Amino acid sequence: MQQKNYASQIHRCFRCGYCKFPTDYSSFNCPSYRRFRFDSYSTGGRLWLIYAWLKGEIEWSEHLAEILYACTTCKNCTEQCPMKFAPDIVDWIVGARSDMVEKGRIPPRVSRFFEAVYGYGNPLKLLRSDRGAWANGTKIYAPGDEYLLYVGCLGSYDENAQKMARSLVHVLETAGVSFGILGNDEECCGNEIYMLGEMGLFQHLVEKNSQKFKELGVRKIVTLSPHAYNTMKNNYPASGGNFEVYHYTQILNDLIKKNKIKSSQTKAKITYQDPCFLGRYNNIYDEPRQILQSIPGLKLVEMERNRRDAFCCGGGSGNFVTDLLAGSADSPARVRAREAYETGADTLAVACPSCLTMLTDAVKAENLDDKLAVKDISQILKELLSAK
Ligand code: SF4
Ligand code: SF4
Repeated sequence: MQQKNYASQIHRCFRCGYCKFPTDYSSFNCPSYRRFRFDSYSTGGRLWLIYAWLKGEIEWSEHLAEILYACTTCKNCTEQCPMKFAPDIVDWIVGARSDMVEKGRIPPRVSRFFEAVYGYGNPLKLLRSDRGAWANGTKIYAPGDEYLLYVGCLGSYDENAQKMARSLVHVLETAGVSFGILGNDEECCGNEIYMLGEMGLFQHLVEKNSQKFKELGVRKIVTLSPHAYNTMKNNYPASGGNFEVYHYTQILNDLIKKNKIKSSQTKAKITYQDPCFLGRYNNIYDEPRQILQSIPGLKLVEMERNRRDAFCCGGGSGNFVTDLLAGSADSPARVRAREAYETGADTLAVACPSCLTMLTDAVKAENLDDKLAVKDISQILKELLSAK
């Protein structure tokens, strides 16, 4: 694993600081630096702290661990660092976290995240027997179905994300797609567990999920969340979990092109939040936009920071639960909510349950909830299908 090499390479960062910015240097684009404004919370500062810890120049402390875990693994630094090692930066951070996990030296919030996934199969510590309660009679996957719809922990348990899951189910059913869900038998995908550095638990989840999928004869998986999409597509194959994995925006965009989904007219003015695990991690920028642009009358307006320069909502790497960046008007989700509002849009569209929960809360905290709706793309489509 690339993470294991980090100790011999991390000194190569010379703290120039380019990784803090978007391409045009117009603002701060590392969410943890934007939140705290101390260099220790920037990429370079964080890497130097890790290096000092490795060399024994500084002692471990809970504060040091929190600085390490305040990184949302958004990959803005990977985009902006001019050095050849740029693609490895997040692996280095994950590698240092993995060493802290092995030594049992992690922040209590992160320990609780691991305990919840280990004991309950989700980080929210909610009952396994309630996992499928959102589904309201949605068909359970059976051999012969074309797709397994994997909804993930937020889609299963979070009230807002459940609405997103139900909307996607409605749109897929309307388009005549052959699919089923796992209901109570679904388990955490492990993306956040990987990013938080608990490699033993991650391996356990990959093997358990892959075995279940294989027993059921699953070949194609469509995920609600970009986080699940990322790990099933990019991490599972190394452990024998080879499936065709799609994010739902890819499937819906294809259905629209084949005229299997038609929307009615709208006057909505919409801006779109690129999820890090869809955009920077997997280069999926066009499909969500093409879905929105296919809707008659819809006006898409971009935020100043978009696509590769998009500003993370702050929820990545488990922060939608551990919340190490919360508690301030400088929290990434609140910064992003204001940026979305400044576009003049009436709706902030997302394509990720984590973005949905983070930005919905942020819009409320900014007292913008009567001016800016936060909706997932599947919800926007469902509303317009219903209006037909
Ligand atoms: S990670 Fe790259 S851009 Fe950031 S401080 Fe280090 S060398 Fe500079
Ligand atoms: S991955 Fe994102 S949050 Fe982490 S150091 Fe890089 S820019 Fe900052």
